[in-house]
Amino acid sequence: MNISKRAGSIPPSSTLAITAKVREMKARGEDIIGFGAGEPDFTTPAVICDAAIDAIHDGQTHYAPTPGTPAAREAVAAKLREENGIDCSADHITINNGAKFTVYLALQALVDPGDEVILPTPAWVSYKPMIELAGGTMVEIAADASAEFKITPEQLEAAITPRTRVMLLNSPSNPCGTMYSPDEIHGLVSVLERHPHVTVVSDEIYEQLVYGDHPALSVGSIDSMRDRTVTINGLSKTFAMTGWRIGYACAPGDGGAVIKAMNTMQSQMTSSITSFTMPAVVTALGAGRAEVDGMRRTFAGRAELIHGLVRQWDDVLCPRPTGAFYIFPDISCTFGRVSPGGIRLESAMEFASALLAEAGVAVVPGNDFLGPGPRHVRMSFATSEEQIAEGCGRVREWLGKLT
Ligand code: PMP
Ligand code: GLU
Repeated sequence: MNISKRAGSIPPSSTLAITAKVREMKARGEDIIGFGAGEPDFTTPAVICDAAIDAIHDGQTHYAPTPGTPAAREAVAAKLREENGIDCSADHITINNGAKFTVYLALQALVDPGDEVILPTPAWVSYKPMIELAGGTMVEIAADASAEFKITPEQLEAAITPRTRVMLLNSPSNPCGTMYSPDEIHGLVSVLERHPHVTVVSDEIYEQLVYGDHPALSVGSIDSMRDRTVTINGLSKTFAMTGWRIGYACAPGDGGAVIKAMNTMQSQMTSSITSFTMPAVVTALGAGRAEVDGMRRTFAGRAELIHGLVRQWDDVLCPRPTGAFYIFPDISCTFGRVSPGGIRLESAMEFASALLAEAGVAVVPGNDFLGPGPRHVRMSFATSEEQIAEGCGRVREWLGKLT
């Protein structure tokens, strides 16, 4: 059978592939410490689950409005107004099947073939395939560990051309685990203000999971950017709801024109999210908010723990994680050396596969995150303190045996 060029042109998600591989290895009884999965290890708060269960019993099991119920969209708008300072209403909101699909729809709504999309890297593995599926051209701006993986206003200015349609921003960042301070966001915005043809797609899915000195500042809350920012968020990470598949976007500009375009496409693709999860959106963003800080504090403790342990690895550079639940050490000091099992380490790929085979520790090689990614591995600390201590200890011991 003929597979389309489009389908053949993109790779599978390497983050999901590693998560699946670790799951299989553990199911076979292998002793693996998994730092791969990009999802909270908590269960969804009971109050949120109850809202969905009640909705099923109440018969809310039929098609729902494509963009989400008015109550769910109002709950999202209220969250964005109160927590993020974004001036918006329910008409500016669309709710989709996971923030991954929200990003996809936003790019489909904004990008025409030949348009340029600026992507600061290292960046989440799915952005590049999504830009390409929209026919866009990725324009990478790389930033390395010495800059905490953050681009400068000068780099942004140099990357903008008349063809630039979108700048994708993801702060706090997957995979870097770092985030822009409010001053740094204002620095980037001062450049964007000179280029009104550029729309910002701001993926703020980790916005509540911050451990540094600053809260996350939403670009869409800055007056000059309100009408040309698409703010994306979702329930997956903040509320430990990855399997529920609930993401959303807010774009108040032009009376919600981008949102309307996303809804038109969604109406032809998936109709709406699962109807009986709509009341759970209202509960999560209402009563459920009280549960978030406990999870955030647990992640903050783990961020400190894993950073302290990774710093004990000789010659490995690693910025302190200030947001999301990832740490992204530069392991290039091992390149050219040989693992105890005889594998010559040339990039993060060999490092990750040798580490898994020989020490039973799963990390994500940074290659697909682009930029300096091939010198890094991503470790998710959405796992227990015991697993973090055991896994980091195994890596240290394994590093000590490289020749
Ligand atoms: N953006 C980023 C940066 C992510 O890490 C993820 C997690 N996979 C998503 C979006 C999508 O999350 P979800 O589809 O589970 O809402
Ligand atoms: N975003 C998470 C990760 O990066 C989940 C997997 C995915 O969707 O890529 O691991």
